[in-house]
Amino acid sequence: MSEDRIAAPGTAEADWAGWLPGQDWPAWTVDPAWTRVAVCAAHPDDEVLGAGGVMALLARAGVQLDLVAATDGEASHPGSTVLSPAELAAARVVETEDALIELGVPARITRLRLPDSGLAAREDELTERLTAAVAGCDAVLAPWVGDAHPDHEAVGRAAGAAGETLGVPVWQYPVWTWHWAGPGDPRVPWSAAHRVDLPRAVRAAKRAAVARFATQVHPLGPGAADRVVLPADVLAHFDRDLEVLLR
Ligand SMILES: [Zn+2]
Repeated sequence: MSEDRIAAPGTAEADWAGWLPGQDWPAWTVDPAWTRVAVCAAHPDDEVLGAGGVMALLARAGVQLDLVAATDGEASHPGSTVLSPAELAAARVVETEDALIELGVPARITRLRLPDSGLAAREDELTERLTAAVAGCDAVLAPWVGDAHPDHEAVGRAAGAAGETLGVPVWQYPVWTWHWAGPGDPRVPWSAAHRVDLPRAVRAAKRAAVARFATQVHPLGPGAADRVVLPADVLAHFDRDLEVLLR
């Protein structure tokens, strides 16, 4: 199962750091014709981890950002003795708002409030509501359809369908891919990759934004069900001076 790739030990960031700079990918740039771009996320933090730098660059270029949040992330700590799913969701919604402030991104947020870990089972509804939410945007960002998390893949597929229906380009951002894949991994369509170089200030803003997801970057408590979701070795993939978009 694809989730096994997420649970298994991952690739060290040092391995990526030795490979990424040598890739001759075209640079992604903000299209001056864009006035409004939608960023779709399965869980609160996907958008910042995978495309926080892109969002900051868009905002700095004067582009209005619309965040479409498929779930509130209530399933990150099943069995937690510290936070109930409802408390977790409430905390994660606030974390996202704080992270967007750190990024300097005044996004309008549409919350679909679909079930965390249950998006693939509600994909028709997800696609319909996501399409309505991104209508009028000039481009759409979404998790990569091959990211190996079923929710990420469902949002990626829904965004792809929305892009087809509306006739707008969809750029996909990898998240868990950086953990389970490795340099040159044949499961990743590197020929579709574009590099996004992050200026120092944007990288610093992204780092501050990621730190706002306290329920994900720290343990909730000492119990096994409260363990950290994004440990330091995973977080290292999101502290680079570049992001990668697939299209
Ligand atoms: Zn996620």
